[in-house]
Amino acid sequence: MNYLSTRGHPDRKRFCEILLEGLAPDGGLYLPETYPQVDTATLARWRALPYAELAFEILSLYIDDIPPVDLKAICAKTYTAEVFGTEEIVPLRELEDGVYLEALSNGPTLAFKDMAMQLLGNLFEYELARRGAELNILGATSGDTGSAAEYAMRGKKGVRVFMTSPDGRMSPFQQAQMFSLQDENIHNIAITGVFDDCQDIVKAVSNDLGFKRKYRIGTVNSINWARLLAQVVYYFAGYFQATAGNDKPVSFTVPSGNFGNVCAGHVARMMGLPIQTLVVATNENDVLDEFFRTGIYRVRGAVDTHETSSPSMDISKASNFERFVFDLVGRDATKLRQLFVEDLGLNGSFDLSADPAFKQAAERFGFKSGRSTHADRLATIRDTEKRFATLVDPHTADGLKAAREQLVPGVPMVVLETALPIKFAATLVEALGQEPERPKKFEGIEALPKRVVKLPADAEAVKAYIAENCD
Ligand SMILES: *Cc1c(COP(=O)(O)O)cnc(C)c1O
Repeated sequence: MNYLSTRGHPDRKRFCEILLEGLAPDGGLYLPETYPQVDTATLARWRALPYAELAFEILSLYIDDIPPVDLKAICAKTYTAEVFGTEEIVPLRELEDGVYLEALSNGPTLAFKDMAMQLLGNLFEYELARRGAELNILGATSGDTGSAAEYAMRGKKGVRVFMTSPDGRMSPFQQAQMFSLQDENIHNIAITGVFDDCQDIVKAVSNDLGFKRKYRIGTVNSINWARLLAQVVYYFAGYFQATAGNDKPVSFTVPSGNFGNVCAGHVARMMGLPIQTLVVATNENDVLDEFFRTGIYRVRGAVDTHETSSPSMDISKASNFERFVFDLVGRDATKLRQLFVEDLGLNGSFDLSADPAFKQAAERFGFKSGRSTHADRLATIRDTEKRFATLVDPHTADGLKAAREQLVPGVPMVVLETALPIKFAATLVEALGQEPERPKKFEGIEALPKRVVKLPADAEAVKAYIAENCD
Protein backbone atom coordinates (compact mmCIF):
# COMPACT_ATOMS: atom_id res chain seq x y z
CA MET A 1 0.00 0.00 0.00
CA ASN A 2 1.33 3.43 -0.97
CA TYR A 3 0.30 6.79 0.42
CA LEU A 4 -0.14 10.08 -1.42
CA SER A 5 -0.56 13.72 -0.39
CA THR A 6 -3.93 15.43 -0.80
CA ARG A 7 -2.11 18.38 -2.41
CA GLY A 8 -0.67 16.41 -5.31
CA HIS A 9 3.02 15.92 -4.39
CA PRO A 10 4.39 13.29 -6.83
CA ASP A 11 6.11 11.16 -4.15
CA ARG A 12 4.53 7.97 -2.88
CA LYS A 13 5.38 6.70 0.61
CA ARG A 14 4.97 3.57 2.62
CA PHE A 15 3.32 3.27 6.00
CA CYS A 16 6.40 3.40 8.25
CA GLU A 17 7.69 6.51 6.45
CA ILE A 18 4.52 8.48 7.08
CA LEU A 19 4.16 6.98 10.57
CA LEU A 20 6.97 9.23 11.77
CA GLU A 21 6.22 12.19 9.55
CA GLY A 22 2.93 14.12 10.02
CA LEU A 23 2.14 16.54 7.19
CA ALA A 24 3.35 15.80 3.66
CA PRO A 25 6.16 18.05 2.32
CA ASP A 26 3.63 20.11 0.33
CA GLY A 27 1.48 20.76 3.40
CA GLY A 28 -1.08 18.13 2.42
CA LEU A 29 -2.34 15.15 4.40
CA TYR A 30 -1.51 11.55 3.61
CA LEU A 31 -4.13 9.12 2.37
CA PRO A 32 -3.85 5.61 0.95
CA GLU A 33 -3.82 5.50 -2.85
CA THR A 34 -6.94 3.32 -2.71
CA TYR A 35 -9.27 2.04 0.00
CA PRO A 36 -9.02 -1.75 0.32
CA GLN A 37 -12.43 -3.34 -0.18
CA VAL A 38 -13.98 -5.68 2.36
CA ASP A 39 -16.65 -8.09 1.08
CA THR A 40 -19.47 -9.83 2.96
CA ALA A 41 -17.48 -13.06 3.36
CA THR A 42 -14.65 -11.14 5.01
CA LEU A 43 -17.08 -9.29 7.28
CA ALA A 44 -18.57 -12.63 8.31
CA ARG A 45 -15.12 -13.99 9.11
CA TRP A 46 -14.10 -10.89 11.09
CA ARG A 47 -17.30 -10.82 13.13
CA ALA A 48 -16.09 -13.46 15.57
CA LEU A 49 -12.59 -12.08 16.09
CA PRO A 50 -11.35 -10.64 19.37
CA TYR A 51 -10.59 -6.91 19.09
CA ALA A 52 -6.79 -7.26 18.84
CA GLU A 53 -7.11 -9.73 15.97
CA LEU A 54 -9.67 -7.58 14.20
CA ALA A 55 -7.25 -4.68 14.51
CA PHE A 56 -4.48 -6.84 13.01
CA GLU A 57 -6.66 -7.81 10.03
CA ILE A 58 -7.63 -4.21 9.26
CA LEU A 59 -4.15 -2.76 9.83
CA SER A 60 -2.62 -5.47 7.60
CA LEU A 61 -4.55 -4.07 4.64
CA TYR A 62 -2.74 -0.74 5.05
CA ILE A 63 0.65 -1.75 6.46
CA ASP A 64 2.94 -3.92 4.34
CA ASP A 65 6.30 -2.81 5.71
CA ILE A 66 6.04 -4.43 9.16
CA PRO A 67 6.32 -8.24 9.20
CA PRO A 68 2.88 -9.73 10.03
CA VAL A 69 4.13 -11.55 13.14
CA ASP A 70 5.43 -8.26 14.53
CA LEU A 71 2.27 -6.34 13.68
CA LYS A 72 0.17 -9.04 15.28
CA ALA A 73 2.28 -8.86 18.45
CA ILE A 74 1.94 -5.06 18.55
CA CYS A 75 -1.88 -5.32 18.29
CA ALA A 76 -2.00 -8.03 20.96
CA LYS A 77 0.16 -5.97 23.32
CA THR A 78 -1.95 -2.83 22.76
CA TYR A 79 -5.56 -3.98 23.00
CA THR A 80 -5.73 -5.85 26.30
CA ALA A 81 -8.43 -6.05 28.95
CA GLU A 82 -5.85 -4.78 31.47
CA VAL A 83 -5.41 -1.50 29.57
CA PHE A 84 -8.99 -1.02 28.31
CA GLY A 85 -11.01 -2.53 31.14
CA THR A 86 -13.03 -5.21 29.30
CA GLU A 87 -12.48 -8.19 26.99
CA GLU A 88 -14.62 -6.46 24.32
CA ILE A 89 -12.35 -3.38 24.52
CA VAL A 90 -15.20 -1.22 23.06
CA PRO A 91 -18.39 -2.68 24.60
CA LEU A 92 -21.70 -1.57 23.11
CA ARG A 93 -24.82 -1.02 25.18
CA GLU A 94 -28.35 -0.26 24.06
CA LEU A 95 -29.57 2.92 25.69
CA GLU A 96 -33.06 2.91 24.26
CA ASP A 97 -34.76 1.31 21.30
CA GLY A 98 -32.34 1.63 18.38
CA VAL A 99 -29.86 3.96 20.12
CA TYR A 100 -26.56 2.52 21.30
CA LEU A 101 -23.52 3.86 23.12
CA GLU A 102 -20.15 2.45 22.06
CA ALA A 103 -17.73 2.82 24.99
CA LEU A 104 -14.38 4.07 23.72
CA SER A 105 -13.24 5.75 26.91
CA ASN A 106 -12.05 3.09 29.28
CA GLY A 107 -8.35 3.39 28.45
CA PRO A 108 -5.65 4.99 30.65
CA THR A 109 -6.84 8.63 30.24
CA LEU A 110 -10.60 8.01 30.02
CA ALA A 111 -11.12 9.42 26.51
CA PHE A 112 -11.39 7.70 23.14
CA LYS A 113 -8.01 9.06 22.04
CA ASP A 114 -6.34 6.23 23.97
CA MET A 115 -7.72 3.82 21.36
CA ALA A 116 -5.32 5.19 18.75
CA MET A 117 -2.58 6.60 20.91
CA GLN A 118 -1.80 3.39 22.76
CA LEU A 119 -1.21 1.72 19.38
CA LEU A 120 0.86 4.66 18.18
CA GLY A 121 3.14 4.44 21.24
CA ASN A 122 3.90 0.81 20.50
CA LEU A 123 4.33 1.43 16.75
CA PHE A 124 6.73 4.31 17.42
CA GLU A 125 8.84 2.32 19.86
CA TYR A 126 9.00 -0.60 17.41
CA GLU A 127 9.94 1.49 14.37
CA LEU A 128 12.44 3.71 16.17
CA ALA A 129 14.23 0.68 17.61
CA ARG A 130 14.32 -0.90 14.15
CA ARG A 131 15.96 2.23 12.72
CA GLY A 132 18.11 3.02 15.73
CA ALA A 133 16.53 6.48 15.62
CA GLU A 134 14.95 9.03 17.95
CA LEU A 135 11.84 11.17 17.60
CA ASN A 136 10.65 14.37 19.25
CA ILE A 137 6.90 14.54 19.20
CA LEU A 138 5.40 18.01 19.00
CA GLY A 139 1.69 18.17 19.64
CA ALA A 140 -1.20 20.52 20.31
CA THR A 141 -4.03 19.63 22.62
CA SER A 142 -7.16 21.13 24.04
CA GLY A 143 -7.06 18.36 26.61
CA ASP A 144 -7.62 14.79 25.60
CA THR A 145 -4.98 14.36 22.88
CA GLY A 146 -2.22 15.56 25.14
CA SER A 147 -2.90 13.25 28.02
CA ALA A 148 -3.53 10.28 25.72
CA ALA A 149 -0.21 10.94 23.93
CA GLU A 150 1.73 11.40 27.14
CA TYR A 151 0.35 8.23 28.76
CA ALA A 152 1.11 6.31 25.54
CA MET A 153 4.70 7.62 25.22
CA ARG A 154 5.85 7.95 28.84
CA GLY A 155 8.99 5.96 29.43
CA LYS A 156 9.14 4.78 25.79
CA LYS A 157 12.66 4.50 24.39
CA GLY A 158 13.70 6.93 21.65
CA VAL A 159 10.71 9.26 22.13
CA ARG A 160 10.32 12.70 23.73
CA VAL A 161 6.96 14.51 23.88
CA PHE A 162 6.58 18.31 23.68
CA MET A 163 2.89 18.98 24.21
CA THR A 164 1.44 22.47 23.82
CA SER A 165 -1.94 23.32 25.35
CA PRO A 166 -3.92 26.57 25.76
CA ASP A 167 -3.03 27.96 29.18
CA GLY A 168 -5.89 27.68 31.67
CA ARG A 169 -8.42 26.27 29.20
CA MET A 170 -8.37 22.61 30.13
CA SER A 171 -10.44 21.16 32.95
CA PRO A 172 -8.57 20.84 36.28
CA PHE A 173 -8.73 17.06 35.94
CA GLN A 174 -7.22 17.14 32.44
CA GLN A 175 -4.48 19.53 33.56
CA ALA A 176 -3.66 17.34 36.51
CA GLN A 177 -3.55 14.20 34.36
CA MET A 178 -0.91 15.77 32.11
CA PHE A 179 1.05 18.05 34.37
CA SER A 180 1.47 15.49 37.13
CA LEU A 181 3.53 13.19 34.90
CA GLN A 182 7.12 13.36 36.10
CA ASP A 183 8.65 11.26 33.32
CA GLU A 184 11.78 12.82 31.91
CA ASN A 185 10.71 12.33 28.28
CA ILE A 186 7.45 14.28 28.77
CA HIS A 187 7.38 18.11 28.41
CA ASN A 188 4.21 20.14 29.02
CA ILE A 189 4.11 23.62 27.40
CA ALA A 190 1.21 25.94 28.35
CA ILE A 191 0.69 28.52 25.58
CA THR A 192 -0.88 31.93 26.24
CA GLY A 193 -3.70 31.59 23.69
CA VAL A 194 -6.39 29.23 22.43
CA PHE A 195 -6.13 25.74 20.99
CA ASP A 196 -5.81 27.00 17.42
CA ASP A 197 -2.74 29.02 18.39
CA CYS A 198 -1.20 25.75 19.58
CA GLN A 199 -2.19 24.03 16.37
CA ASP A 200 -0.71 26.89 14.30
CA ILE A 201 2.57 26.60 16.20
CA VAL A 202 2.76 22.88 15.45
CA LYS A 203 2.11 23.61 11.76
CA ALA A 204 4.68 26.43 11.67
CA VAL A 205 7.39 24.28 13.26
CA SER A 206 6.56 21.34 10.98
CA ASN A 207 6.75 23.62 7.93
CA ASP A 208 10.29 24.67 8.89
CA LEU A 209 11.87 21.69 7.15
CA GLY A 210 15.39 22.49 8.37
CA PHE A 211 14.33 22.55 12.01
CA LYS A 212 12.08 19.56 11.54
CA ARG A 213 14.94 17.48 10.15
CA LYS A 214 17.57 18.66 12.63
CA TYR A 215 15.40 17.94 15.66
CA ARG A 216 13.59 14.93 14.18
CA ILE A 217 10.15 16.44 14.82
CA GLY A 218 7.13 14.18 14.53
CA THR A 219 3.52 14.58 15.46
CA VAL A 220 0.74 12.69 17.17
CA ASN A 221 -2.05 15.06 16.23
CA SER A 222 -5.04 13.60 14.50
CA ILE A 223 -3.47 14.39 11.11
CA ASN A 224 -1.27 11.34 11.72
CA TRP A 225 -2.58 8.61 9.43
CA ALA A 226 -1.74 5.80 11.87
CA ARG A 227 -4.09 7.30 14.44
CA LEU A 228 -6.89 7.54 11.98
CA LEU A 229 -6.28 3.98 10.89
CA ALA A 230 -6.43 2.70 14.48
CA GLN A 231 -9.83 4.39 14.82
CA VAL A 232 -11.23 2.61 11.77
CA VAL A 233 -11.17 -0.62 13.79
CA TYR A 234 -13.84 0.36 16.32
CA TYR A 235 -16.35 1.21 13.59
CA PHE A 236 -16.12 -2.42 12.53
CA ALA A 237 -16.31 -3.62 16.16
CA GLY A 238 -19.32 -1.37 16.80
CA TYR A 239 -21.02 -2.57 13.64
CA PHE A 240 -20.57 -6.24 14.60
CA GLN A 241 -22.01 -5.67 18.06
CA ALA A 242 -25.03 -3.71 16.78
CA THR A 243 -25.97 -6.32 14.15
CA ALA A 244 -26.68 -10.01 14.34
CA GLY A 245 -24.92 -11.45 11.32
CA ASN A 246 -26.97 -9.91 8.52
CA ASP A 247 -25.62 -7.15 6.30
CA LYS A 248 -28.04 -4.53 7.56
CA PRO A 249 -26.70 -1.00 7.71
CA VAL A 250 -25.88 0.89 10.88
CA SER A 251 -25.45 4.64 11.42
CA PHE A 252 -22.89 6.34 13.64
CA THR A 253 -22.95 9.68 15.40
CA VAL A 254 -19.58 11.18 16.20
CA PRO A 255 -18.89 14.12 18.56
CA SER A 256 -16.49 16.03 16.32
CA GLY A 257 -13.80 18.68 16.46
CA ASN A 258 -10.81 18.08 14.20
CA PHE A 259 -12.79 15.61 12.08
CA GLY A 260 -10.35 12.78 12.87
CA ASN A 261 -12.78 10.39 14.52
CA VAL A 262 -15.55 10.76 11.94
CA CYS A 263 -12.99 10.64 9.11
CA ALA A 264 -12.09 7.14 10.33
CA GLY A 265 -15.80 6.32 9.95
CA HIS A 266 -15.63 7.67 6.41
CA VAL A 267 -12.67 5.36 5.70
CA ALA A 268 -14.55 2.36 7.15
CA ARG A 269 -17.52 3.22 4.94
CA MET A 270 -15.27 3.57 1.86
CA MET A 271 -13.93 0.07 2.60
CA GLY A 272 -17.45 -1.28 2.30
CA LEU A 273 -18.62 -1.44 5.93
CA PRO A 274 -22.41 -1.02 5.70
CA ILE A 275 -22.69 2.41 7.30
CA GLN A 276 -25.82 4.30 6.29
CA THR A 277 -25.22 7.70 7.85
CA LEU A 278 -22.30 9.41 9.57
CA VAL A 279 -23.69 12.17 11.77
CA VAL A 280 -21.14 14.88 12.58
CA ALA A 281 -22.08 16.36 15.97
CA THR A 282 -20.66 19.78 16.88
CA ASN A 283 -21.08 22.22 19.75
CA GLU A 284 -21.39 26.02 19.41
CA ASN A 285 -18.18 25.89 17.35
CA ASP A 286 -20.13 24.74 14.36
CA VAL A 287 -17.83 25.12 11.31
CA LEU A 288 -18.49 21.53 10.34
CA ASP A 289 -22.25 21.64 10.87
CA GLU A 290 -22.33 24.82 8.79
CA PHE A 291 -20.48 23.09 5.95
CA PHE A 292 -22.77 20.06 5.87
CA ARG A 293 -25.85 22.31 5.95
CA THR A 294 -24.73 24.95 3.45
CA GLY A 295 -21.65 23.85 1.48
CA ILE A 296 -19.70 26.79 2.89
CA TYR A 297 -16.60 26.06 4.94
CA ARG A 298 -15.72 29.17 6.89
CA VAL A 299 -12.94 28.88 9.45
CA ARG A 300 -13.09 31.09 12.52
CA GLY A 301 -10.37 33.15 14.12
CA ALA A 302 -9.26 32.83 17.73
CA VAL A 303 -11.67 35.54 18.91
CA ASP A 304 -14.65 33.75 17.34
CA THR A 305 -13.79 30.43 18.91
CA HIS A 306 -16.18 29.86 21.79
CA GLU A 307 -15.02 28.37 25.04
CA THR A 308 -17.68 25.72 25.65
CA SER A 309 -18.54 22.96 28.09
CA SER A 310 -17.48 20.37 25.49
CA PRO A 311 -13.98 21.84 25.16
CA SER A 312 -12.40 19.01 23.15
CA MET A 313 -14.65 20.12 20.29
CA ASP A 314 -13.75 23.84 20.55
CA ILE A 315 -12.18 23.96 17.14
CA SER A 316 -12.48 26.65 14.51
CA LYS A 317 -10.83 24.78 11.65
CA ALA A 318 -10.86 21.02 11.42
CA SER A 319 -7.40 19.70 10.60
CA ASN A 320 -8.59 16.39 9.08
CA PHE A 321 -11.37 17.88 6.99
CA GLU A 322 -9.04 18.18 3.99
CA ARG A 323 -8.92 14.37 3.77
CA PHE A 324 -12.67 14.09 3.30
CA VAL A 325 -12.86 17.03 0.89
CA PHE A 326 -10.16 15.35 -1.23
CA ASP A 327 -12.48 12.36 -1.69
CA LEU A 328 -15.48 14.68 -2.12
CA VAL A 329 -13.88 16.51 -5.09
CA GLY A 330 -12.99 13.19 -6.74
CA ARG A 331 -9.36 13.23 -5.50
CA ASP A 332 -8.59 16.19 -7.75
CA ALA A 333 -5.47 17.68 -6.10
CA THR A 334 -5.64 20.86 -8.20
CA LYS A 335 -9.16 21.56 -7.04
CA LEU A 336 -8.20 20.66 -3.48
CA ARG A 337 -5.33 23.16 -3.55
CA GLN A 338 -7.64 25.83 -4.94
CA LEU A 339 -9.95 25.32 -1.92
CA PHE A 340 -7.46 24.81 0.91
CA VAL A 341 -4.48 26.89 -0.19
CA GLU A 342 -5.98 29.70 -2.28
CA ASP A 343 -9.57 30.20 -1.09
CA LEU A 344 -8.90 29.48 2.58
CA GLY A 345 -5.63 31.40 2.44
CA LEU A 346 -7.19 34.49 0.83
CA ASN A 347 -10.72 34.58 2.26
CA GLY A 348 -10.67 32.20 5.21
CA SER A 349 -13.45 30.23 3.53
CA PHE A 350 -14.49 28.25 0.50
CA ASP A 351 -17.90 27.77 -1.01
CA LEU A 352 -19.03 24.51 -2.59
CA SER A 353 -22.75 25.31 -2.32
CA ALA A 354 -23.15 25.58 -6.11
CA ASP A 355 -20.73 22.74 -6.87
CA PRO A 356 -22.27 19.38 -7.79
CA ALA A 357 -19.70 17.79 -5.43
CA PHE A 358 -21.45 19.26 -2.38
CA LYS A 359 -24.59 17.18 -2.91
CA GLN A 360 -22.40 14.09 -2.83
CA ALA A 361 -21.47 14.73 0.81
CA ALA A 362 -24.92 13.53 1.85
CA GLU A 363 -25.99 11.43 -1.11
CA ARG A 364 -22.86 9.44 -1.87
CA PHE A 365 -20.83 9.74 1.35
CA GLY A 366 -23.71 9.58 3.84
CA PHE A 367 -22.86 12.66 5.90
CA LYS A 368 -25.33 14.56 8.08
CA SER A 369 -24.70 16.94 10.94
CA GLY A 370 -26.10 18.51 14.09
CA ARG A 371 -25.23 21.20 16.60
CA SER A 372 -25.69 21.57 20.37
CA THR A 373 -25.53 24.40 22.84
CA HIS A 374 -24.63 24.40 26.52
CA ALA A 375 -28.34 24.24 27.41
CA ASP A 376 -28.83 21.21 25.11
CA ARG A 377 -25.86 19.51 26.73
CA LEU A 378 -27.22 19.98 30.26
CA ALA A 379 -30.69 18.81 29.18
CA THR A 380 -29.28 15.68 27.53
CA ILE A 381 -27.12 14.82 30.55
CA ARG A 382 -30.16 15.20 32.86
CA ASP A 383 -32.48 13.27 30.58
CA THR A 384 -30.01 10.40 30.14
CA GLU A 385 -29.46 10.15 33.88
CA LYS A 386 -33.18 10.26 34.63
CA ARG A 387 -34.42 7.80 32.04
CA PHE A 388 -31.50 5.37 31.82
CA ALA A 389 -29.54 5.91 35.05
CA THR A 390 -26.51 6.56 32.85
CA LEU A 391 -24.05 9.43 33.14
CA VAL A 392 -22.62 10.78 29.89
CA ASP A 393 -19.90 13.37 29.44
CA PRO A 394 -20.70 16.68 27.66
CA HIS A 395 -19.18 15.58 24.31
CA THR A 396 -21.13 12.34 24.25
CA ALA A 397 -24.22 14.40 25.15
CA ASP A 398 -23.64 16.52 22.03
CA GLY A 399 -23.56 13.25 20.10
CA LEU A 400 -26.76 11.92 21.64
CA LYS A 401 -28.67 15.07 20.79
CA ALA A 402 -27.56 15.05 17.14
CA ALA A 403 -28.20 11.29 16.91
CA ARG A 404 -31.84 11.63 18.02
CA GLU A 405 -32.44 14.20 15.29
CA GLN A 406 -31.32 11.72 12.63
CA LEU A 407 -32.91 8.45 13.77
CA VAL A 408 -34.35 6.22 11.05
CA PRO A 409 -36.62 3.36 12.17
CA GLY A 410 -34.91 -0.01 11.74
CA VAL A 411 -31.39 1.41 11.44
CA PRO A 412 -29.38 1.08 14.65
CA MET A 413 -27.75 4.39 15.64
CA VAL A 414 -24.41 3.98 17.41
CA VAL A 415 -23.26 7.04 19.34
CA LEU A 416 -19.53 7.05 20.05
CA GLU A 417 -18.86 7.76 23.72
CA THR A 418 -15.75 9.91 23.51
CA ALA A 419 -14.93 10.53 27.21
CA LEU A 420 -15.96 9.54 30.71
CA PRO A 421 -17.95 12.12 32.73
CA ILE A 422 -15.27 12.50 35.44
CA LYS A 423 -13.03 14.34 32.96
CA PHE A 424 -15.64 17.14 32.82
CA ALA A 425 -16.94 17.05 36.37
CA ALA A 426 -17.91 20.75 36.57
CA THR A 427 -20.53 20.39 33.82
CA LEU A 428 -21.89 17.21 35.38
CA VAL A 429 -22.23 19.03 38.70
CA GLU A 430 -24.00 21.89 36.93
CA ALA A 431 -26.44 19.48 35.28
CA LEU A 432 -27.05 17.05 38.14
CA GLY A 433 -25.76 18.63 41.32
CA GLN A 434 -23.40 15.73 41.90
CA GLU A 435 -19.83 14.70 41.09
CA PRO A 436 -19.46 11.71 38.79
CA GLU A 437 -17.65 8.72 40.22
CA ARG A 438 -13.86 8.93 40.03
CA PRO A 439 -11.78 5.81 39.30
CA LYS A 440 -9.49 5.01 42.25
CA LYS A 441 -6.25 5.55 40.36
CA PHE A 442 -7.15 9.21 39.79
CA GLU A 443 -7.99 10.14 43.38
CA GLY A 444 -6.26 13.34 44.50
CA ILE A 445 -4.34 13.95 41.26
CA GLU A 446 -5.10 17.70 41.31
CA ALA A 447 -2.88 18.04 44.39
CA LEU A 448 0.19 16.36 42.85
CA PRO A 449 3.27 18.44 41.90
CA LYS A 450 3.04 19.88 38.36
CA ARG A 451 5.65 19.81 35.59
CA VAL A 452 4.88 22.54 33.01
CA VAL A 453 6.44 25.65 31.39
CA LYS A 454 4.49 28.68 30.15
CA LEU A 455 5.38 30.19 26.73
CA PRO A 456 3.85 32.90 24.49
CA ALA A 457 1.91 31.93 21.32
CA ASP A 458 5.06 32.12 19.22
CA ALA A 459 6.57 29.29 17.18
CA GLU A 460 10.11 30.66 17.71
CA ALA A 461 9.78 30.44 21.49
CA VAL A 462 8.63 26.84 21.21
CA LYS A 463 11.49 25.99 18.83
CA ALA A 464 13.98 27.46 21.29
CA TYR A 465 12.52 25.39 24.12
CA ILE A 466 12.73 22.20 22.07
CA ALA A 467 16.34 22.93 21.04
CA GLU A 468 17.27 23.49 24.67
CA ASN A 469 15.73 20.24 25.81
CA CYS A 470 17.18 17.93 23.15
CA ASP A 471 20.74 16.96 23.83
C1 LIG B 1 -10.85 14.78 20.61
C2 LIG B 1 -12.22 14.68 21.13
C3 LIG B 1 -13.32 14.90 20.29
C4 LIG B 1 -13.18 15.34 18.85
O1 LIG B 1 -12.61 14.34 18.04
P1 LIG B 1 -12.01 14.72 16.60
O2 LIG B 1 -11.32 13.49 16.15
O3 LIG B 1 -11.06 15.86 16.82
O4 LIG B 1 -13.15 15.13 15.73
C5 LIG B 1 -14.59 14.73 20.83
N1 LIG B 1 -14.77 14.39 22.13
C6 LIG B 1 -13.73 14.17 22.96
C7 LIG B 1 -14.00 13.81 24.38
C8 LIG B 1 -12.42 14.31 22.49
O5 LIG B 1 -11.39 14.10 23.31
